[in-house]
Amino acid sequence: MTSSKDAIAKLIENTIRDDIRAVASYHVPDASGYIKLDAMENPYQLPESLRAELGQRLADAALNRYPVSYPTLKAKICASLGVPAGYDVMLGNGSDELISLMAAAVARQGRGGDARRAVVMAPTPAFVMFSRAAQFAGADFVGVPVKADFSLDLEAMLAAIEQHRPALVFLAYPNNPTGNLFDAGHMEAIIRALGETGIAVVDEAYQPFARTSFMDRLPAFPNLVVMRTLSKLGLAGIRLGYLSGDAALLEQFEKLRPPYNVSVLTQVAAEFALEHLDVLDAQADLLNQERTRLAAELAALAGVEVFPSAANFISLRVPDADKTCSELRTRKVLIKNLSKMDKLLANCIRVTVSTPEENTALLNALKASL
Ligand SMILES: *Cc1c(COP(=O)(O)O)cnc(C)c1O
Repeated sequence: MTSSKDAIAKLIENTIRDDIRAVASYHVPDASGYIKLDAMENPYQLPESLRAELGQRLADAALNRYPVSYPTLKAKICASLGVPAGYDVMLGNGSDELISLMAAAVARQGRGGDARRAVVMAPTPAFVMFSRAAQFAGADFVGVPVKADFSLDLEAMLAAIEQHRPALVFLAYPNNPTGNLFDAGHMEAIIRALGETGIAVVDEAYQPFARTSFMDRLPAFPNLVVMRTLSKLGLAGIRLGYLSGDAALLEQFEKLRPPYNVSVLTQVAAEFALEHLDVLDAQADLLNQERTRLAAELAALAGVEVFPSAANFISLRVPDADKTCSELRTRKVLIKNLSKMDKLLANCIRVTVSTPEENTALLNALKASL
């Protein structure tokens, strides 16, 4: 008789896809007791008075009801976040979910003849969810390396588009994990090259810090989708992402959206936050000021190379990233080691910009960890 452990192993082998069994889970480290600078979270909460008011609003939410298509929240997003007139938004449980839904929407399976599996493309290094979502949806992911200074290799991108005819191309603006803004003219050339054969998704997760956007270009490019999130602005915990694009395209993506993917609590909290966008924008201003200070102080450290950032994080190269990360961990500072992620990121680490106190603590710990 086989043990139940053997039986479950057989069951998994017989049912779960080979490529799923082969991947490692997305690891979220336990951060209790640490200064948490690994996930681009806003260190500030809403002020006490607003939190009390939000508490009341949440208490009044109709938790007994399923959420209904979110008209008020969508209208608030369109009105306050620069969505062009005549354009609607689609909401996701974080932009992570929207990435997965778009990948699923294009993941046509090649059958017979010269039919090929759909290709999802992004310049790399890129946000890991782009390749993961493509894989899980059953599409092939093609990464096109950026240049050594992390700028787009336009020629290589255009050649890869010609060769692979991707159905979906993700361009993070600014890019994560590098922090830089790609050249907008190069991005337009890519969107134009995709034309009627591919959808370009400009992922503006860091728009609150970059203060620049492709949103107003939507009317110029029918194959353009602009995606954002409230996460980096200070609401990572509520999980709300949104995207905008041509209504007919959104209608297709909407078919894949689980009808109640955004909870009533998220809806209420997001509406409340948008009514107080000035508070969140002021926090982003503070973080941008700290980014300037932190970048300068990091650049002054011997052996450290700091890369320009338009986001709420800074990527830098140190003499020995593994050593620096483990020493920082013993000093109770959690950051992201990028070294293994991509050839171009050898000995690179990424730190979230935080409060002046936490940034100073990082600098002091780093001086002892290089
Ligand atoms: C953080 C991040 C996201 C994910 O945002 P959520 O809305 O929290 O899922 C998407 N894209 C990029 C480039 C990011 O860095």
